[in-house]
Amino acid sequence: MIHNTIDGLPPLRDIIAEHGLSAKKSLGQNFLLDLNLTSKIARQAGDLSNCDVLEIGPGPGGLTRGLLHEGARRVVAIERDQRLTPALDQIKEHYEGRLDVIFGDALAVDVSQHLNAPVKVVANLPYNVGTELLIRWLTPENWPPYWDSLTLMFQKEVAQRIVAQPKSKAYGRLALLAQWRCNAKLVMEIPPQAFTPPPKVTSAVVHIERLEKPKFPANAKVLERVVATAFNQRRKMLRASLKSLAPQIEDILNSVGITPTQRAEEISLEQFCALSCALENPAR
Ligand code: SAM
Repeated sequence: MIHNTIDGLPPLRDIIAEHGLSAKKSLGQNFLLDLNLTSKIARQAGDLSNCDVLEIGPGPGGLTRGLLHEGARRVVAIERDQRLTPALDQIKEHYEGRLDVIFGDALAVDVSQHLNAPVKVVANLPYNVGTELLIRWLTPENWPPYWDSLTLMFQKEVAQRIVAQPKSKAYGRLALLAQWRCNAKLVMEIPPQAFTPPPKVTSAVVHIERLEKPKFPANAKVLERVVATAFNQRRKMLRASLKSLAPQIEDILNSVGITPTQRAEEISLEQFCALSCALENPAR
């Protein structure tokens, strides 16, 4: 039977009812059922026709269908909840050879062997693992990473932390990690009513494009440590919050033009990178 949906498959509401897929809170299940909306989210990732798309948490497949409808060469989806098998099988059959589903925990599955470059990651992330996954994508062993872009839905408050600029409350570790080697933009806001069941908060989609090289030189591990240490005690002056990194921290801060009484929130990405280099190679 052909349905009046973007792809001729049944509406998601019917699929959910047919398979008794009640949303599980413990798995962060808030489903998007409007396929026009999921197609719009898929379009934020740009041209997908020559890309493998990695999707985390396809659920009953709303965004998956959007991605395939928008022309993704292939979608590899990792889902924890086996109850979704029949719903996802239906999509697999319809888009012959273009959808692979791996059942497992996205934090534990090694996806690299399942993907062919170029790769884009697009996902309405489960809130309980979203930030952890993002940090892993942003801090791989080697740069550039296996992915070209990340188009991800988060709680709006997390999305704002990713795109935040200095001197704002949202500015911190996530902003610096995301903006050092990528350009990050908040591209869409999505109200709670768009989901079934509706979450308590507004969501937002962030599009992150990786750069070939960092914007400013720094050793990744050192930069991560400096930023984490500085923002762990964000209200403290840097001469106090960073003291554990080097006894002569005041001199090092001064040497890169940071006043030791400044706080983490006031320091730009470029200054954090300069500080990391100075900590790695203190002037003798
Ligand atoms: N993509 C669907 C949508 O937009 O309607 C569902 C999004 S829902 C917010 C998150 C999905 O991630 C759920 O289907 C949930 O079962 C799945 N999930 C939760 N934890 C997971 C994990 N650790 N690994 C893989 N999938 C997970």
